Amino acid sequence: MKQFKRIGECKRCGRCCTYFTLLLKDSPQEPDLKKYFELHGITFEKDERTQQTRWIIPLKCKMLEYDENRLASCKLHGTDKKPLICRNAPTLKEKNNHERVNCAYKWVIK
Ligand code: SF4
Ligand code: SF4
Repeated sequence: MKQFKRIGECKRCGRCCTYFTLLLKDSPQEPDLKKYFELHGITFEKDERTQQTRWIIPLKCKMLEYDENRLASCKLHGTDKKPLICRNAPTLKEKNNHERVNCAYKWVIK
């Protein structure tokens, strides 16, 4: 199995805080339902590792803010209210999500 290491640094674009993803067993099969979700900006992709469907739901976090230079920051940064998932991000598990939003972090094979 390939081993990856993360390189780069956060450029504070904030894009990783504007959506969330769910890994679910099912995706909508019915075309009208699929269209309905897609009209709400929800998209789907197969997770190769788990063979589940990743639902990508655009929803900006309430704690995301931008300064006058359009640099993003988290209102919870430095507090224990910040979810662990955010404190540890981005991990290799989130590689695809971060690549999708053109994150400044990259993963390269060790
Ligand atoms: S997408 Fe990447 S570069 Fe942008 S804020 Fe998130 S971690 Fe930082
Ligand atoms: S809590 Fe902070 S780091 Fe986590 S998604 Fe919201 S703004 Fe981003």
